[in-house]
Amino acid sequence: MDLGIKGKVALVTASSKGIGKAVAEDLTSEGCIVAICSRNKEDLINAASDIKRKFNVEPFWAVCDLNKQKDIENTVDSVTRQFGKIDILVNNCGGPEAGNFRDLNDVNWQSAFEQVLLSAIRFCNLIVPEMILREWGRVINITSLTVLQPADNLMLSNSLRTGLIGFAKSLSNEVAKYNITVNNIAPGYTLTNRLYDLAVHNGKKSGKSHEEILAEMAKEIPMNRLASPDEIASSVLFLASKQASYITGNTIHVDGGLIKGI
Ligand code: NAD
Repeated sequence: MDLGIKGKVALVTASSKGIGKAVAEDLTSEGCIVAICSRNKEDLINAASDIKRKFNVEPFWAVCDLNKQKDIENTVDSVTRQFGKIDILVNNCGGPEAGNFRDLNDVNWQSAFEQVLLSAIRFCNLIVPEMILREWGRVINITSLTVLQPADNLMLSNSLRTGLIGFAKSLSNEVAKYNITVNNIAPGYTLTNRLYDLAVHNGKKSGKSHEEILAEMAKEIPMNRLASPDEIASSVLFLASKQASYITGNTIHVDGGLIKGI
């Protein structure tokens, strides 16, 4: 099936690993011109050469700490200088620190706010006005199951990601008339470094091994298994496609049935 995005320029943030990297791979496989970014130069070089090995096209990359406004400005600037525009923006981020109410101080809250919510707003501020001028665009935010069902020990994610959903819905209303869609993907438990680290953290707190914690997570899911990053990326690809042109302001849960609500 032709997804209608061949030649579109896509920027995927926090994309040297995990879900972000899987999204960058899927967009590359569909013929998009892809730019990746994250904090660590070495990880980016590894991700870029991995993508080149798989698809014979090297993505553009830029070092960008999502907590730093200047890095975000430099990233958008370098991608637009290289390719002239950004058609598809995928706002991913590193997962905020784990912890409960009493574990977290102002510094933790401020840092998570910058990473989870403000970085996406900053990228949109820099990129969406140009999408409006071209009357086409896709903004897709990677959020979490926590937007519908708060997860134990993830106070920062539970609190800040709903803000991003509110921002996305409001933005979608403002830009829909320009053929710009704004949507969110809410992954369930997905086997990446992030989930592994959370399993280690929760294991230490409860005296269990991380294998036991991961197995318990899988048991909660009607599909009885964790997601692979590819399974999250496929939904992002769909939202970026021409076939999804009438879907906006939505949050799609890709969680194997984990959320219990109707
Ligand atoms: P991951 O840890 O595998 O990858 C995170 C990526 O973000 C890496 O490329 C890392 O370099 C980058 N990153 C981290 N901090 C950064 C910063 N300050 N600036 C720039 N880049 C930064 O994580 P993942 O599992 O792929 O998760 C991606 C997002 O999805 C996270 O926000 C996570 O909380 C969310 N999520 C993950 C799961 C899951 O089960 N894995 C479930 C729900 C939501």
